[in-house]
Amino acid sequence: MSQPSTATTDAVPAYTEVDVSVLVIGAGAAGARAAIELAEQGIDDTLVLGKRSHGDAHTTWARGGINGALGTHDPEDSWAIHAADTLNEGHFLNDPIKVETVAKQMPDRLQELDDWGMEYSRTENGEIDQRYFGAQSFRRTAFAGDHTGESLLHTLVDRAQELEIPYREDVMITKLVSDGEAVYGAVGFDMDSGEFVLFNAGSVVLAAGGYAAIYNRHTSRDDENNGDGPALAYDAGAELMDMEFVQFHPTGMAVDESDPEWEPWSGRLVTEAVRGEGGRLFNSEGERFMERYSPDQMELDARDVVARAIAEEVAEGRGTDTGGVYLDISHREADFIQERLPRMYERFQELGVDMAEEAVEVAPTSHYGMGGVAVDAHGETDVDGLFAIGETMAGVHGANRLGGNSLAETVAYGVVAGDRIADRIDGPGTVPDDLRETVIEPQFADLAALANTDGTYAVTAVFEELQELMWEHAGLLREEGQLDAGLDKLDTVRQKASDMNTGPLTSESFEFAVDVGFMLTAAEAVLRGAKQRAESRGAHYRTDHPAVDETWQHNIYYEQADVGGMTTHTEPVGVPSEAVQAALDEGHELDYHQLE
Ligand SMILES: Cc1cc2nc3c(=O)[nH]c(=O)nc-3n(C[C@H](O)[C@H](O)[C@H](O)COP(=O)(O)OP(=O)(O)OC[C@H]3O[C@@H](n4cnc5c(N)ncnc54)[C@H](O)[C@@H]3O)c2cc1C
Repeated sequence: MSQPSTATTDAVPAYTEVDVSVLVIGAGAAGARAAIELAEQGIDDTLVLGKRSHGDAHTTWARGGINGALGTHDPEDSWAIHAADTLNEGHFLNDPIKVETVAKQMPDRLQELDDWGMEYSRTENGEIDQRYFGAQSFRRTAFAGDHTGESLLHTLVDRAQELEIPYREDVMITKLVSDGEAVYGAVGFDMDSGEFVLFNAGSVVLAAGGYAAIYNRHTSRDDENNGDGPALAYDAGAELMDMEFVQFHPTGMAVDESDPEWEPWSGRLVTEAVRGEGGRLFNSEGERFMERYSPDQMELDARDVVARAIAEEVAEGRGTDTGGVYLDISHREADFIQERLPRMYERFQELGVDMAEEAVEVAPTSHYGMGGVAVDAHGETDVDGLFAIGETMAGVHGANRLGGNSLAETVAYGVVAGDRIADRIDGPGTVPDDLRETVIEPQFADLAALANTDGTYAVTAVFEELQELMWEHAGLLREEGQLDAGLDKLDTVRQKASDMNTGPLTSESFEFAVDVGFMLTAAEAVLRGAKQRAESRGAHYRTDHPAVDETWQHNIYYEQADVGGMTTHTEPVGVPSEAVQAALDEGHELDYHQLE
């Protein structure tokens, strides 16, 4: 890595430069695992950066587990059945090659994490324990209590430190350096000092998370998952895919929002592991209503099925006062709950609720964007040298995601992309001179102009208006007129976003102002795709087209039009391999009642 140098002219704000072979944007599980792969293959000038301090990424919030066909309890499980379950849950809109890649890799990836010291929950024999998760045929979800993500990221960070991989914290990337054909690096600012930085890089890996927090009721941290990854790639000339598919997790906390103690918890995740460990859903009449919606799989049916069932119960007047239903695991022993769900138990206990004695209240909440950046089988976009992995990429989950599959995707695609880059690397990149004038310097000037503005609208007001718009117009149940109205309102929000009142570069309001820009791109794609997809499939439900339409066995791609603005096209989905087709034909399915 070269020493920073400083370039200054009167017109252009000063900026420092850093040269690296590979720039990894994002230090969650995906970015960390890609950097480890590169280091293990002898690449010694990778730089990983993130918006937060070392070890602090959204991955730490992942709770219930990570999938891989280890067969600890169910030896008949296999990677092919894992792939088949994933395709079934994705309603066959997933890219079969990517699904197969993840499913095949995961037994080795789980084992490798064990070798690196991950604190898995274990069976009495000391094997990696595995639990049921929704819509999976076997117990395939490995876990570390209900803090799997935290344990995973700590393991990866420790490994990265052993390999002495450099990490730069508190840097926000605002634009990739691209001419639409190839990427040459990225620009951003140091969130502590306000310094502008240009990173020259031969390859760029975007591992910057997803876009589920463009909704006001969501499970993400407030300052994460605003669509940075997809928006940066789209702006650089890459295509997005499947953005209309947003997973609404059935069990977000439903709270009395007028109570200041409970209000911050609204929408926060109650992990699927509560249902995986036997939790039952009841409506306000005491009825175990999943009997009516899914008598075989019950509470462990796919997330979209359970989420819509809850929404329907509430809409028909059988909800609780907080607009949710009850989730009850009190039939299990207190010791069992404390061992298997320690963080959930503690959280509710601090709020005065003992899960071993009483039910908690839950309702659907935005949890995960299945869409993201369109990439090939190696994680590379059609912008040469630009990769997207983890929650930023699209293709593994199709129309809906199996719980436990996104952590799997992070480590599997970290290895795939790292391996690919290591094969072709030829030193740090050189930014073509014309891009300094057309991309880099205008971006620094724009950022300088965005700081300390005296605009009409508070950043938080615009941020929240956008999130509310998305919940209202592109939520769990969608309809054409509502989506059109949402697109109109988005124009109004866009205008307000150009007239915001921001603080200095180091302020939270400045970070959120940049985020609003990313969110606008992600929101527009979701609204457009949801309108175009005139059918219901997986997480996308259109009340005016409530059935699957087989002619829609296509992915929607989003890109910048030559004349400006967003344009879309569709392409048919690939077919599964023979091995996966055979697993599909065998028709494996979870029998929920064996849990009882
Ligand atoms: C509450 C919750 C529970 C979950 N539980 C599970 C589970 O049990 N099992 C499962 O499989 N999945 C789970 N998921 C999903 C899973 O946690 C994520 O999909 C996964 O952790 C994403 O990892 P990632 O590395 O792709 O991104 P992240 O962990 O989100 O990391 C993104 C990184 O990018 C950086 N970044 C973002 N934008 C910028 C920018 N503009 N400039 C610089 N850096 C940037 C961030 O600082 C961060 O370092 C859960 C999700 C939530 C919200």
